[in-house]
Amino acid sequence: MRQSMTLIPTLREVPADAEIKSHQLLLRAGFIRQNSSGVYSFLPLGKKVLQKIEAIVREEMDEAGAVELLMPALQQAEFWQESGRWYTYGPELMRLRDRNEREFALGATHEEVITSLIRDEVKSYKRLPLTLYQIQTKFRDEKRPRFGLLRGREFIMKDAYSFHSNQESLDEVYQQLFTAYSNIFRRCGLDFRAVIADSGAMGGKDTHEFMVLSDVGEDTIAYSDTSDYAANIEMAPVNATYEKKQEAERELEKVQTAGQKTIDEVSSFLNVEAADCIKSLLFKVDEKYVLVLVRGDHEVNDIKLKNLYGAAVVELAEAAETKEVLQCSVGSLGPIGTPENVEIVADHAVKYIVNGIAGANEEDYHYVNVNPERDFQVSQFADLRFILEGDASPDGQGHIRFAKGIEVGHVFKLGTRYSEAMNAVYLDENGRTQPMIMGCYGIGVSRTLAAVAEQFNDEKGLVWPADLAPYQIHLIPVNVKDEEQSALAEKLYSGLRQQGYEVLLDDRQERPGVKFADSDLIGIPVRITVGKKAGEGIVELKLRTTGEVLEVKEDSLPEQLRSIFS
Ligand code: ATP
Ligand code: MG
Repeated sequence: MRQSMTLIPTLREVPADAEIKSHQLLLRAGFIRQNSSGVYSFLPLGKKVLQKIEAIVREEMDEAGAVELLMPALQQAEFWQESGRWYTYGPELMRLRDRNEREFALGATHEEVITSLIRDEVKSYKRLPLTLYQIQTKFRDEKRPRFGLLRGREFIMKDAYSFHSNQESLDEVYQQLFTAYSNIFRRCGLDFRAVIADSGAMGGKDTHEFMVLSDVGEDTIAYSDTSDYAANIEMAPVNATYEKKQEAERELEKVQTAGQKTIDEVSSFLNVEAADCIKSLLFKVDEKYVLVLVRGDHEVNDIKLKNLYGAAVVELAEAAETKEVLQCSVGSLGPIGTPENVEIVADHAVKYIVNGIAGANEEDYHYVNVNPERDFQVSQFADLRFILEGDASPDGQGHIRFAKGIEVGHVFKLGTRYSEAMNAVYLDENGRTQPMIMGCYGIGVSRTLAAVAEQFNDEKGLVWPADLAPYQIHLIPVNVKDEEQSALAEKLYSGLRQQGYEVLLDDRQERPGVKFADSDLIGIPVRITVGKKAGEGIVELKLRTTGEVLEVKEDSLPEQLRSIFS
């Protein structure tokens, strides 16, 4: 490709609203442009990298026995109503009406569409298992679109769905796709881990997330310092053992704590440890109010709460709502004297508090010498807190450490969540009707692109791994007006392309400094500079990764390049 003929609008300045390296560099190097919040154009270079990632994804998915198809992004509401997610997916689902006032969603994911397709087309166990995938634009009206392609409102996903007549077959395909995913992210050069995850809005049980280790990741991975245990922090169960303090239970007392609201404020005001406080938070679990208690130095894990109740939606009650239900503001909530209609659940650690502190459900008052089970009852004690660094690893081996991760892929065993809701059934060997067993498997293709950019860069710009680079060779005649240089560059341009290389020729009439800076910014693995020694057939070859420079005679170039790219 001739640079004069394509669109690579590089920027010298760091765009103000781009907080992280990958976002800054993809903008500066002219790979993407923002259209509206969380919505981007892939410019020619960005599109090329996307295609390379997609090619790897296709190869590995095909190898794993999956077959590509393409489903519509515009999805009728009826499918989502059948599955129930029309009511539970929330504002992330982009909804619209057609001219006849019929409701639609823009596909955030495709379980509904594919389940409706397969229930119509597959009737017998003989056609199962079947694994289908697509690479397609998805829409999610994210609350906080950010970090460029990492969290978009319109983004590219590879999504796959498998259908089975028995659990073993699902297990087998899940394993095959797990392997395919590992291959894909390895071939993208990414430093990643597969971690145990939560199935979220998707329903279902077994699930792993593929996380690229990165400080800009939004997810926290809890991993063992000794074994290969790794889980999304949301999912890591806490196996801690607690002990009660050896002191006699004292009499419950109400004290004034004017203006002291947070655990920190209350514990320093009363001169006790945060671990002696009971933190009380009002949650709305589906339609029900639940007061959740954890120790003052712990945090409520709302995923665990959600799983405890098998709820679709769990939200912290808003301040106004809390006031209405408990007649008291957030800083003074507590388990003593809560109304009947509010259920109380507590994390295991709370049970071991002796003479603790809790809000009095009365503005500016707390109770001291609170003893669980003596002073209040809970409907149950459960694991409701986030694991902490230093906690025992859930597999019993070693202790927990934290790392940040970017979720690039997710594999789920859905079971019959969708087939039952949407009546996707088949006839088994005995002619009996059975719901299909399903799995689903997603890769954020555009997010993967950003994750690669985040991992591969230096102070000068992007540094693409050879297999994902938009071009393999950046060919730069220093002065295009120089006839010798121009002639040699043209000769190499056609020769190298004939040898199968993808070449970007910088045929622009720009100062050498500008060309080199752009080249470093773009990050193509090999730069060939045609300069003063063009007349002798000598060019300069520079590797983007190491900065290593070689002078090479024109005729030994093919061999040099072969060894670089092998
Ligand atoms: P997240 O927790 O990051 O919102 P998710 O759990 O909602 O992700 P899935 O529904 O599992 O994501 O979607 C499959 C894949 O699509 C994810 O693993 C991720 O790589 C990608 N993805 C999800 N949301 C976005 C987004 N807003 N922008 C870009 N990629 C996304
Ligand atoms: Mg999400």
